Amino acid sequence: MGIAENAAEINRRVSQALLRSSDPSREVKLIAVSKTFPAERVLDAIDAGLFRFGENRVQELVSKSEALKKKKIEWHFIGHLQTNKVKKLLDVPTKYIHSIDRMEAAIELERQLQKRGESRDVLVEVNMSGESSKSGVEPDKAIELIRALTKIETIKVKGLMTIGALTEDRKAVRDCFVKLREIFLRVREEAIDKVEMAELSMGMSGDFEIAIEEGATMIRIGTAIFGERTKAAQN
Ligand SMILES: *Cc1c(COP(=O)(O)O)cnc(C)c1O
Repeated sequence: MGIAENAAEINRRVSQALLRSSDPSREVKLIAVSKTFPAERVLDAIDAGLFRFGENRVQELVSKSEALKKKKIEWHFIGHLQTNKVKKLLDVPTKYIHSIDRMEAAIELERQLQKRGESRDVLVEVNMSGESSKSGVEPDKAIELIRALTKIETIKVKGLMTIGALTEDRKAVRDCFVKLREIFLRVREEAIDKVEMAELSMGMSGDFEIAIEEGATMIRIGTAIFGERTKAAQN
């Protein structure tokens, strides 16, 4: 199947999952994860009506956004952010950096953003699965990190992100999303100055319907749109 058919099928499944959720009237934003695929595939996806794209490597995001600068694309950075890549990342006017999980990266963002006189909207990545290979702040340290981030003038927290547990156990996957939403609602209740809990970025090709049932506002879909990535280029 081509990208247009894949996107149509995802949209259909998104609508169905929404009907099973507690807030069926909300919008779920589809982020097409184009990592490892060339700019030409992104053009195909644009032809299929997609406009939000996600990348997990700074260099790849920078070169793809450069190659596609004539196109109206909303870019999302979804990968682990190393401090030495922050400066480069800021060459791209991302909608959201989804993956803030420690102060170190935020402090470097502040330093570079102050120089540019710019700001960025970010999500805080939480490690809900407990898998040590994954990045993300621990769930019980998330609120503390969010509070600390309010001291950083140039970034604004707009929501939370997680990667669901990598397992066939659907209940364990659902649990990750349920618990992330609980943190989301708790932060909202605390009404922390400067913090807006607008977005819940959760759900990928294998689990986006569960994520939507549990309140996702943004899903990040790679394989189900672009097809399998080659092993060598995984991650
Ligand atoms: C690769 C990636 C995705 C998309 O994964 P698929 O299973 O291909 O849909 C989503 N989120 C993050 C953070 C990723 O790195």
